[in-house]
Amino acid sequence: MACIFCQIASGDLPSEILYQDEEVIAIRDINPQAPSHVLIMPKAHIPSIADVTEEQTAILARLVSAANLLAKREGIAEKGYRLVTNCGPDAGQAVSHLHFHLLGGRQLGRLG
Ligand code: 5GP
Ligand code: ZN
Repeated sequence: MACIFCQIASGDLPSEILYQDEEVIAIRDINPQAPSHVLIMPKAHIPSIADVTEEQTAILARLVSAANLLAKREGIAEKGYRLVTNCGPDAGQAVSHLHFHLLGGRQLGRLG
């Protein structure tokens, strides 16, 4: 299995797991860009948000629910945070397994 996030989701690669259920896993980013930087992803392999099919849209709600829970746990829910997903080369998507970045704990710069 080549996908690094599939290997993390299956437990074959170690990571700091912050949350998981049957369909979702959240880990701390190995190279944090903010005091709080969490990656929230489906356990199933979906290459990017552009590949989410009509039948798979429920996973997006589960990812957002996990993000809301984690924002509270990380202590960033009150002051604010950013929830973003990179899609494709122009966005700099490095890992082709859908994931949302939850970033907070400092004043974040403008997007773009
Ligand atoms: P992307 O650029 O695809 O949106 O984000 C990929 C993210 O995955 C990067 O922020 C990078 O630091 C993180 N990352 C890459 N490999 C690993 C890893 O093995 N473990 C963890 N926890 N994060 C990783
Ligand atoms: Zn994968």
